[in-house]
Amino acid sequence: MIPYANPKAQYLTHRLAIDAALARVLASGQYILGEEVRQFEQEFAQFLGVAHAISCGSGTEALHLALVAAGIGPGDEVITVSHTAVATVAAIELAGATPVLVDIDPATYTLDPARVQAALTPRTKAILPVHLYGQPADLTALGELARRYGLRLIEDCAQATGAQWQGKRVGTFGDAGCFSFYPTKNLGALGDGGMVVTNDHQLAAEARRRREYGWFDRYISSCPGWNSRLDELQAAVLRVKLPFLDAENRRRQAIADRYDSALAELEVGIPARQPAASHVFHLYVIRHPQREQLLAHCHAHGVAPGVHYPLPVHLQPAYRGRIATAGPLTESERAAREVLSLPIYPELQPEEVEMVIATLRAFREEGR
Ligand SMILES: *Cc1c(COP(=O)(O)O)cnc(C)c1O
Repeated sequence: MIPYANPKAQYLTHRLAIDAALARVLASGQYILGEEVRQFEQEFAQFLGVAHAISCGSGTEALHLALVAAGIGPGDEVITVSHTAVATVAAIELAGATPVLVDIDPATYTLDPARVQAALTPRTKAILPVHLYGQPADLTALGELARRYGLRLIEDCAQATGAQWQGKRVGTFGDAGCFSFYPTKNLGALGDGGMVVTNDHQLAAEARRRREYGWFDRYISSCPGWNSRLDELQAAVLRVKLPFLDAENRRRQAIADRYDSALAELEVGIPARQPAASHVFHLYVIRHPQREQLLAHCHAHGVAPGVHYPLPVHLQPAYRGRIATAGPLTESERAAREVLSLPIYPELQPEEVEMVIATLRAFREEGR
């Protein structure tokens, strides 16, 4: 089976360096928030071109920390999308705030700026776009909306580490950018991890305190906080991989180019290319009205695509009937029925890419 993502292949690519880094940490005697974490935070901030990087336990926690550090909490509304990982919406509720879900632009699968205005209320405090699949949301339009209405802009960059908008890395446009290092993400650890980045000194200091019991001085909580720390083993692994991220993203883009040209003649919707964006293809997502049949056909022919995601957040049992939506979420619901994520990862071999293409071609030729 050709999987849609392959974190083990990533480990094998960097095996010698990762094994050496892990051995170094094991021998150091320091396992949480030590030198590896400090260095990785610096290197990640430099990679993005941002003043502060505050590591934490996961991408969900990065969003939670950024919201709390930006002063967003009970009574505040945060505008985001329903077509995303549940984590985006869960983090808003963890902060005590109220998510308001807006429909996506069907071409890019990201928050539609044209629909934001109708969702604004006097309680709106922030816009939280998701750069889904590695595709940047329209940061120009969303940045203008945030400025015009005095709102915070917090970017969910979990799927878009290294992506750019007008030549600048995503995560550096808003008040804060939030990243995940879950193993399948473009920059993946061998466990959980996350990062908040910001140019706002006060937001950075707040996030840093909150991630460790509200400590400013050790053992003295200056504000309420909790525990969300990155460990030394994960930081050491991430330091090995970060220098290769741009090259690995280019490899993903080359695979995407091959898919684009081969699939253009088949009746499948291929990812939009925005002139302002460098899409890093965390996932290569096509759409097809007979998604379930296509999925079964792929499985029968040795290809295991993913579905991201089969149910929009507002229809999930935990949220249905109680979550606020601004207008109908028609495009989100249609995307959930039609999307299919084809295999894409830096180690995917050219002949495997051709096998995936041949499988899609055969589906069409079987006349379905
Ligand atoms: C993965 C992901 C998250 C959450 O990251 P975790 O590290 O799994 O907590 C948040 N938002 C999006 C869009 C994601 O893909």
